[in-house]
Amino acid sequence: MMLDTVLGLNRFENGPVDVERLAIEYSAKTAPATPIREVIDRDLPGCVGALVYSDTPPRQWGIVCSAGQSAGRRNFTIAHEFGHYVLHRRMIEDGGEYDGGIYCDEGNVHRGEGPDIERQADQFAANLLMPFNDLRNLLSARTRPDFEVLGTLATRYGVSLTAVILRWLEFTQTRALVVVSNEGFAHWAKASEAAFKSGVFIATRANVYELPSAATAVTGDHSDEAKTGILRPGGCWFSEPVLEMCIRSDRYDREITLLHLEDNGPYHHDDEPLEDTINLFHRTDRNRRLDKT
Ligand SMILES: [Zn+2]
Repeated sequence: MMLDTVLGLNRFENGPVDVERLAIEYSAKTAPATPIREVIDRDLPGCVGALVYSDTPPRQWGIVCSAGQSAGRRNFTIAHEFGHYVLHRRMIEDGGEYDGGIYCDEGNVHRGEGPDIERQADQFAANLLMPFNDLRNLLSARTRPDFEVLGTLATRYGVSLTAVILRWLEFTQTRALVVVSNEGFAHWAKASEAAFKSGVFIATRANVYELPSAATAVTGDHSDEAKTGILRPGGCWFSEPVLEMCIRSDRYDREITLLHLEDNGPYHHDDEPLEDTINLFHRTDRNRRLDKT
């Protein structure tokens, strides 16, 4: 809301949030004795980001990013560590369990897994980089976007495709899931609230989930159709049919599979307006067909 007020509601037309500059300038103005001095890239074995502080008070802070992250993932990592600075720095400074700072792994930063403070920093980052008021103006909560639409949003917000999919899953009123896999096994999965409430989800924490043998992520047949959507019959992923969209990330050696399910009756968020907002994106014919079913 502060950024909207200062930079205008159309601020994303000029590019994503410059989170590195924001973290340094905001902390210098609001906590001049204990600011974030710099954002640096280093080897961080097992971690993707850290918020570290100087040995002696008044503490000087620094954000460390694991070297080699894509620009989108790096932005989200900085926003997550900035979230720890804004929300948790006193706890981190005083807590005996933090030795010189807080170190966050991929699950902490990109999916908010772990202690509550990780979920809070993850939400801070998502709210800062991908505010719902902007997303809502671009995409109806009932739209079933494909990777092209989601990729456009990822560019707009300067984040990874995965980050924008997770944000969209929080926002959508449709039933959908994302599955990130490697060599045919789910690394992790996340369902929209509507899908979860209808009993459609994939549990990956306690179980090893093997993807269906027909799934593109397993066959490796990454055709254009596999990216825009293949209708899989009931019995493949779930007892009901799904529209499966899959792309592969060579950089991270993973497949991202998006599963769209048909609506099964009205579902409403308590805090969402029911009417659709204007959809600025052109939906695919396939999505339209699915909408009508
Ligand atoms: Zn963290």
